[in-house]
Amino acid sequence: MSIELPEAYILSNQMSKELLGKEVTCYGLGDCTSLQNLGCINMYRSDFDKLHGGRIVSVVSRGNVIRVKFDNGMNLLLAPEYGGKVLYHKESAVPSKYHLKLCFDGDSALTVTLTGLGVIQALTDEQLENSYVYRRDFSTTASPTDEKEFTFERFSKELSGRKVNVKSVLVGKDAVVVGLGNSAFQDILFRAKVHPKRKASSLNEAEKQALFNAVKNLIQERLKQGGKSQFVDFYGKLGGYNAEMGSNMKGKTCTKCGSQIESLSLGGGQTFYCPGCQK
Ligand SMILES: [Zn+2]
Repeated sequence: MSIELPEAYILSNQMSKELLGKEVTCYGLGDCTSLQNLGCINMYRSDFDKLHGGRIVSVVSRGNVIRVKFDNGMNLLLAPEYGGKVLYHKESAVPSKYHLKLCFDGDSALTVTLTGLGVIQALTDEQLENSYVYRRDFSTTASPTDEKEFTFERFSKELSGRKVNVKSVLVGKDAVVVGLGNSAFQDILFRAKVHPKRKASSLNEAEKQALFNAVKNLIQERLKQGGKSQFVDFYGKLGGYNAEMGSNMKGKTCTKCGSQIESLSLGGGQTFYCPGCQK
């Protein structure tokens, strides 16, 4: 289950609550070789040595990325974008399988396990900028949870003249917002009644407004319901939000108009949509 902005936000708040001020007393790495070769996890295990003895001074998220900052100039960057779990445990109850384990003073620990591509990296303050996901999400691109940054005026302006598919302006490196993945994208388009093949530049003012509202509302709802269904929070609790549109609608009919749900391949992913509602 991919972790997008709402889920990263939930995790970082829970981590902050439990871990602020705690000191790393040990760490462990599981079988990470293939993820290390893909650049998801530091190539050298010794990089994680530098977390030892560090005390957590903040845990924040932006977009899909969580930054745990230590008082010794180190950071732990977590972005389980294509699936993963970040779990809180008593040190004595840590499961046997994980990619990264950190133990803290006071018999507490966290484990991180990736189930798809993502990031688990120990980086110095200076090395943060070398991280692609950090540069992408801790950037000047608007965050949809920040009311000052994410305004309709700015959103509308940044969409105009973009002769690209609407997915490119919502998801990925050229998006005008951080933190949305393919899952959120399908839900947002369905709510805004916009067809996935539309070009951003073809959207009229009302459609842009509908898209803007859909982004805001979707994120608020997912936060309120503890994240997407299948998402597991820091305490192992499942999220309660079921997508209105996505692969879960495959072979079904639209809940609003009764049309058969269709799908098309778009920008490296399958996009489900309702041909009746989305124009
Ligand atoms: Zn429909």
